[in-house]
Amino acid sequence: MITNPVGISDSIPEKSPVYLVGAGPGDPELITRKAERLIRSCDALVFDYLVSEELLKWAPTTAERICVGKRAGFHSLPQEKIQDVLVRLSLAGKMTVRLKGGDPFVFGRGGEEVSRLRAEGIPFEVVPAITAGVAAAARAVVPLTHRSFNSSVVFLTGHQDPSKDDATGVDWATYARLDTTLCLYMAMTRLPQIQKALIDGGMPATTPCAVVQWATTEKERILYTTLEKLPADCEKDNFTAPAIVIIGKTAALHASAFPSA
Ligand code: SAH
Repeated sequence: MITNPVGISDSIPEKSPVYLVGAGPGDPELITRKAERLIRSCDALVFDYLVSEELLKWAPTTAERICVGKRAGFHSLPQEKIQDVLVRLSLAGKMTVRLKGGDPFVFGRGGEEVSRLRAEGIPFEVVPAITAGVAAAARAVVPLTHRSFNSSVVFLTGHQDPSKDDATGVDWATYARLDTTLCLYMAMTRLPQIQKALIDGGMPATTPCAVVQWATTEKERILYTTLEKLPADCEKDNFTAPAIVIIGKTAALHASAFPSA
């Protein structure tokens, strides 16, 4: 049963709902049952490059499939145009699944798509999923929080706007002083700048780090290092996007029995 998309009751009937669905980090077993049900029953599937092929096969053979493939620096379709596609499909009466890697509301531009759907009076629902940072931590056996070490975790992007080459738009010095776990998305091309900003901000160079590339997929690779060696080690072993970088004391726990608090 499809549950209440926002605005379904007061919208014009010919506008079909658009579901903003999180596909999870890669492993098809990590998707929600709700996401699977929606994919299996959709009339149109709009997806980007981080979504696994396996999930796409679930859509009915009759469903329209549209790849709007996005990758840092290579936007095959601008965000505005993606939104135009969603509106067009809804107006054509197609039950549409907008399938996004990880969770739609974590660095997924889901907020922009929701704004547009609201503005057009199109009923929608957001279906959450396991975000890459959480999946990466599990695969690396790095607890994001541990009461002996920290009480918060911060999800950060190292790449606020791919069209900007200079600053990342993040106040790294603020985070350098927090006793937290940093979980960085889209950071691989900026590691030297991020490392310098964190160390300049007071974070010890010895701070443990874990890098997980293609978490939960067959291409998964994991690297453990320290903040001091992070950019050099990633370069040496060719760790590139998509990857998550976890920085904080708990990144050293993977190899040991976790101490109890
Ligand atoms: N909405 C997504 C994030 C999209 S931003 C989510 O919630 O996970 C794209 C970035 O996510 C990538 O550059 C990378 O940092 C991270 N990412 C996505 N899938 C990943 C995976 N399987 N392994 C490691 N990092 C991943």
